[in-house]
Amino acid sequence: MARPEKSRNIHEPPLYTEFRPVGMGGMMGAIIMSIDEYEAIRLSDLEGMTHEQAAEEMGISRPTFTRLLDSAHKKLADMLVNGKRLIIEGGNVNFRFMIMRCADCGHMFRIRTDQIPELCPMCGSKNLIMMAPPFGGGRHRRGHGHRRHGRGGSWGKGPHK
Ligand SMILES: [Zn+2]
Repeated sequence: MARPEKSRNIHEPPLYTEFRPVGMGGMMGAIIMSIDEYEAIRLSDLEGMTHEQAAEEMGISRPTFTRLLDSAHKKLADMLVNGKRLIIEGGNVNFRFMIMRCADCGHMFRIRTDQIPELCPMCGSKNLIMMAPPFGGGRHRRGHGHRRHGRGGSWGKGPHK
């Protein structure tokens, strides 16, 4: 019984989405890591969560989480050993938070995706930049057809809060 794939909860978009080896300029090709794979590494390897905890955080089953993490680790190894570029993008994901930056005063802040402000909380400027737009321009829509564009009505309805 195949269930439709649920989107995975991601805390916030990665700020760094491309890595390349020094000197080689990424001549050995590129690896695409999905944002849910990135989040699996962050939760398990950086935050130290168990697979159970991390799976719950992302709203997926533990076996799915383990598969995601294994896949992410293989990509990291390929990158490190074979000197490939790494690009983080795509995946069926929902962000809980966004990082925004004010173009006028440079203030950077984290905000819930259902509470995007119009004005910079520091200087009141309207020139706010999303550091990593959720699904804008197709960058995060790889392979998943018509995802809704940012600011959709169901943002923030995850299992938490
Ligand atoms: Zn500002």
